[in-house]
Amino acid sequence: MSDSEWSIGLSKELYGLNNYMRQEFIDVDDEGFLVVKVNGSSIRVVDLMKKYGLSNAYVRVLPAIRWAMDQVVKSYREASERYTYNGRLIPVYPLKVDANPIVVETIWRYGRKYNWGFEVGTPQELKSIERYLAEGSGVIVLDGFKTVEELETLKKYAERNWRVIVTIESEREAELVSKYAGSLEVGVRIKPMSRTGSKWSLSLGFSSKFGMTLSHFLKMIKDFPHLKESLTTLHIHGGSQITDIKAVSKIAEESLRIFQDLREAGFENLGVIDMGGGLAYPYLDLRDASYESPNYTISDYFNTILSIFKNTGKHPDLVFENGRIITSAHRIVVAKVLETREYGPEEFEEGLDIDFVRKARSIQELERKLIEFKEVLGKMESKSDWGVKAKLIIESTRAKMISAVAMKVMKLVDENPENLTNILNYPTLFKIVTSPSRRFMVSYSLFADIPDKVIVNQYFQVVPASRLNERPNVLASLSDLTCDSMGEFREFYSYVRSITNWRQAFTSIDSRLIAIPGVKIKLGGIPLHLPSSGEDYYVVFLDTGAYQDMLAMKHNLIGEPPEIVIDEDYNGVRIECSKCENNGYID
Ligand SMILES: *Cc1c(COP(=O)(O)O)cnc(C)c1O
Repeated sequence: MSDSEWSIGLSKELYGLNNYMRQEFIDVDDEGFLVVKVNGSSIRVVDLMKKYGLSNAYVRVLPAIRWAMDQVVKSYREASERYTYNGRLIPVYPLKVDANPIVVETIWRYGRKYNWGFEVGTPQELKSIERYLAEGSGVIVLDGFKTVEELETLKKYAERNWRVIVTIESEREAELVSKYAGSLEVGVRIKPMSRTGSKWSLSLGFSSKFGMTLSHFLKMIKDFPHLKESLTTLHIHGGSQITDIKAVSKIAEESLRIFQDLREAGFENLGVIDMGGGLAYPYLDLRDASYESPNYTISDYFNTILSIFKNTGKHPDLVFENGRIITSAHRIVVAKVLETREYGPEEFEEGLDIDFVRKARSIQELERKLIEFKEVLGKMESKSDWGVKAKLIIESTRAKMISAVAMKVMKLVDENPENLTNILNYPTLFKIVTSPSRRFMVSYSLFADIPDKVIVNQYFQVVPASRLNERPNVLASLSDLTCDSMGEFREFYSYVRSITNWRQAFTSIDSRLIAIPGVKIKLGGIPLHLPSSGEDYYVVFLDTGAYQDMLAMKHNLIGEPPEIVIDEDYNGVRIECSKCENNGYID
């Protein structure tokens, strides 16, 4: 079904599909289906789910990982040409981000041509990559709390072509590495003092969990003179997902200054700066430096760093330790809508008089009256001694009020298009017209599939797998299958540049606001379509490929759904499903 009041282009704006990290792989076909594009083929997400009979799955698009790796190397090359920079790029993959065998295998195999190594933070991670260490060569950076066993293992590989950099953070670790002088290089992790505004800013400043202060390090040198020789690397990690390029730039400046001073102080072998992670992934690609949306790309990242690092005699080599940017796009969570529920009654009993809504002559008047009315209504709702009859009246009144307000706002916008932007000035009104009217019961577990929603309140882009050629019907919250009230997702950022008709700013059934042209707004629900009876309607959470696999929780025993792996093949595309006999969480 097509919709003359909507277009696929509008859907792509609304659902954030014009995203530089994944637009090569995630797109919408002419009939409004979400597709995965690999090697010239387009595969409908809906078809994948139907083929295997699944209600929930992770879809892994492995070429997205390789593409991201290519972008890193390409962008570095361009930046180093621009600044005639002669330091080398040393890319390593931080296993913490996703140590899933299929992800690590993909990075390792493809990374051979770029000499892509690993960053390891625990003995368990080191063990997980031993077969690659035995097989090849490259660079390995050891972070975290170090053990003798790790150093013994790494010594073995250092003797077989691996370049090993052990990042120390204490006297104990300085002592540990002193026994390996000559085979293991040493890095020192210094606490950055620059503020980055990252949610992970516990990595920063005086009280940060990691690293040592510069003064501590310089004092320590006296007891461990071997460091003068073996120190090759200065390591500064400013926290994950640093969304403001100015903060990246400050950390780069801070690093370079310390690097120069240490070299002048006689650390002659110091030649590498490890800037850690922090390169932000565009969960939203609006470039506004909000938590979700970095104001820079991979290319801007290198241009910024190299434009600073070039200002010294010996250009340092740069360890690239970012993982989020490499793996985020590759995994999407697909989940079927099993049932839809209404927030309030649709058929109204007699209720309190809400004629003030219809009669309001302006948006200001509506807001003012609403505030008064909501206060009265709130007091009534909190009464505990009222019987069923009274309760019905109150429930009906609220439902009727919300619906009347939504209709009235549409009418006000119809009369005067400027009212669309005016709504922003009226918070009570705005909240009502962007509130969900439906709860979609969806076959997923927020705790298993997108745990960072609970841990750091991370934003994920949601998009329906079909009907992207139709105007959304309703705003919906997405309830998961756990018995936990936190298992609900209902955040949505909308940023649409232009609409051709004011109706496009509203959903077609519950008349909720979904767009104000040129303004980023946060909705209280996801714009979706009400599935018709028997329709297989799926929602997709994008960008879940970093950290979510590793942090997954088993709340209510839900987890480990089937996985559909999509990769390119000599003759096209290879699709494989593992654990597909599980059928997803619920049939
Ligand atoms: C977590 C971590 C990384 C990865 O950072 P992202 O920005 O999330 O990719 C890199 N280096 C160190 C030391 C880390 O702790």
